[in-house]
Amino acid sequence: MPVDTHVHRVAGRLGLIDAELSAEQAHRPLTELAGPENVYALHINLVRHGRRICHARRPQCGRCPLAVICPSAGLFS
Ligand code: SF4
Repeated sequence: MPVDTHVHRVAGRLGLIDAELSAEQAHRPLTELAGPENVYALHINLVRHGRRICHARRPQCGRCPLAVICPSAGLFS
């Protein structure tokens, strides 16, 4: 899976990867987590979520549908 800045940030905040991993290091665990059939969908949805809600500086946790499962919810307000 390509790990761009959105994928790296959102996956780390959601606890899908160890937040200490670099984007390069996150490639393998995210690819394995998704499985071959879901790599594309996971990538697209992490990018979309990062662009629309889980912004780098001011994530919109208050309107995030993933807040109930996100270990980082509310840490940025
Ligand atoms: S709850 Fe906040 S930190 Fe977690 S995914 Fe949503 S916007 Fe990002």
